[in-house]
Formats: sequence, C-alpha cells, structure tokens
Amino acid sequence: MSHDLVIRAARAVLPTGEVPAAVFIGGGRIVAVGPADAPAPGIPEVVLAPDEVLLPGAVDTHVHVNEPGRTEWEGFDSATRAARAGGVTTLIDMPLNSIPPTVSPEALAVKQSAAAGKTHVNVGFWGGAVPSSLGSLRALWDQGVFGFKCFLAPSGVDEFPHLNRGQLLRAMDEIAGFGGLLIVHAEDPEVLEAYDTAPGRDFAAFMATRPQAAETSAIETVIAAMRETGARAHVLHLSAASALPLIAEAKAEGLPLTVETCPHYLTFDAAHVPDGATQYKCCPPIRSEENRERLWEALASGVIDFVASDHSPATADLKLAGGGDFGVAWGGIAGLQTSLAAVWTGARMRGFSLVDVVGWMSTRPAAWSGLATKGAIEAGRDADLVAFAAEEPWEVHADSLEHRNKVSAYDGAALAGRARRVWIGGVEDAAGVMVARP
Ligand SMILES: [Zn+2]
Repeated sequence: MSHDLVIRAARAVLPTGEVPAAVFIGGGRIVAVGPADAPAPGIPEVVLAPDEVLLPGAVDTHVHVNEPGRTEWEGFDSATRAARAGGVTTLIDMPLNSIPPTVSPEALAVKQSAAAGKTHVNVGFWGGAVPSSLGSLRALWDQGVFGFKCFLAPSGVDEFPHLNRGQLLRAMDEIAGFGGLLIVHAEDPEVLEAYDTAPGRDFAAFMATRPQAAETSAIETVIAAMRETGARAHVLHLSAASALPLIAEAKAEGLPLTVETCPHYLTFDAAHVPDGATQYKCCPPIRSEENRERLWEALASGVIDFVASDHSPATADLKLAGGGDFGVAWGGIAGLQTSLAAVWTGARMRGFSLVDVVGWMSTRPAAWSGLATKGAIEAGRDADLVAFAAEEPWEVHADSLEHRNKVSAYDGAALAGRARRVWIGGVEDAAGVMVARP
C-alpha cells in the first residue's frame, strides 16, 4: 500500500485514548497508525505543533443549508466553509428549509445538483416525512438519504407540514418496514397552543411559550409509537431535562431510541440572554442553568447520545425582525463553525476530556448515522482529520464567521480551541464529496 502522507502528533485521540501517534494516509484513507516516531522513509510528512491535537473530524448530523430556494439564508459554499473552519468534516443536511424540501427522489436530485461542486466538506442528506410523502418514503431511502425528519408541531415553513399522531404511526410503520430511521422535532402542538402568548422582548416570557412539557409530551408520543411499530427513532435537539427520566426508561426497556442535544443548550442559559437578543431564539428554547447542567450529566451518562449543531440561520432581517420581539424573529441558531469549540469549552470546564468530546461529536454520530468509515482515527477509516489547538483562546466575532449571514448567538463569546488545519480524505483544502448512506 502506498502512502501519500504521514501526520505526526504528540497528542492524537485514537479509539484507545489520547496518545502520541503517526497516522499514515493513502488513497484518502488511514492506512496505519503507529508510534509517533515510526519510520516513514520517502513519505511526505506533517508534524503538528506541540499545542495541536489530532482529532477525527466532527460529524454534524443536523445542519440546515437551505439551498436551493432560500440560499440567501445559507448555501452549500458558505455552510461547508463554516464547517471546515470549525473542524466539522462531514455534515448531514436537513430536508427543510430549502425549496423544494427534500421529500421525494426528484427533490433530492435538485438538492444534490445544487450542492455539486460547492462543498468543502463531506455532505449527506436527510429526507422528509410530511403528510404528502407518506407511502413513498422507500423510494427516497433507496436514493441514499440517511433517514427521515418529521415535525410533530408546525415547522415554521408552510412547505414542510407536521405529522399528526395518526400520520406519525403511518410514517414509523412504513420506516420500520425497510429498517430506516425517523428523526423527530418533538414538541407537542397542543401544549404549545395552551401557552401561546406574545412574549415581546422578554426572553423568560418567550421560554414560557415553549415549556418543557411540550417536549416531554411529544417524546411520550414517539416512545408509544416506537412500541407499536418497532421503528427506530431519534429525538432532535433535546432541550428539556424533564424528559431525561422518560428517555432513560425507554432505553432501559430496550427501545432503539437515540437523542441529541445542541451546543447552545450546553453553553447558554436563559438568565444570561439579554431581552430583545433574538439571535438566541431557537425552538425548543435555551432554558435555565440548572437544566443545562442536567443535560451535561445526561451526556456523560449516555442518556443523551451525542451533540449536533442544529445550525439554522436565516437572513439578518428575519433573525432580527420585530426589533427584538421574540414572537416575531426567526427561530434558529447559527452555530456550525463554533460547535466543536463551544462544546470543548464547556466540557473542559466540567472536567471532561477531548476523548469525551470526540465521542459526542464524531464517533457516536458517525456510527449512529451509518457512516462506518468516519468518526475515528484507525486503519481503514477515511482520513478526515483536524489539527485542533485545544488551548488557543477564541473570542468569537460574528462578522468573521464563514456562514452567510453574520448573526450569531456566539458573538463575543470567549471559547477555547481552534481547528488550525483540516484534512478531508487526507487532503487539505480539498473539495468535499457527497456521501450517501452506505
Ligand atoms: Zn433543525
């Protein structure tokens, strides 16, 4: 086997832990991993700086790229530049808020051609389960989507309607039939309606319109439907710690339920969100400090499986619409580029290691989504690698982030950790490829 490159690192996060290592790369893959001083005659060599740690690139399974149709919100070029700058080497794109939404093989083809030639990291696609796509999900699965997203409450865009309980059962029954995966925006519309008030500029009032009970009730519905249909299901962007006991019980029962949370729920807390600061608006919302600490504990114990960014930007006009009115502004946080550093910053503060962060942001999401050749530094895997300067301070300035609209809840945040160099398939500055479910 010929080698194209060897990367030597005083610190590398391998499946066995953090050790010094030499990583041999050939044909886009990791060919061998040896001791840091392993001889490599004639092979081009990169030696990482003493403050850099070699990590498998992050795999972000929850990103809204929005192209085509809402490319002014975000597009493949800018989103994948942001990903690469943040150490994310693979992202999986959500079926909304692009137009058309990815709910048919034809719409997937439109999305793939919109992405072609514009990606700077690996990109894969989710399909959508909406009322009109029920009964024809298999065709989309066969085209290589990683699974199907549905909402149980209004999604925020008219072209992606939510499923009612009966439709959820139909979707899960269908998906179970071909061994697919349903990923769910779990908020109960009846609970949301009961708390529907005008929050104005008050963040606490906004938080009260999306209570924890909305998440808990919707997750109960999903778990009941899993028992009935046998389908695999995944709870997206969990914010409510009150749902954790329910999730732990479902897992103990042996149901194939998985859960993600997001960097913003692990980083921010409601008391520190200024009134009118709609860059922090997302649904479900950022909650209390006590709630945040329970999410960290659940991540440590495995009740929460992994972390994904839910990068969901819009134009600055929409994000700041209403002059700070949380009822009017678009809900969604732009956090793709900051996700790895934000989670690492919170993790090290709480005594976790980079090995933990790699598990939450690379190994587990890769394994869960079926990307068996990603998520770890070991022979046979893709050479998607990051030289991460773990202790480098980073004061985030929204206007220097790579995503299209320079609005971010992280503006002004003091983070630690920069992705200094990134290899996709063993090549720096390479164009990424589109990945299908293997
Ligand atoms: Zn989302």
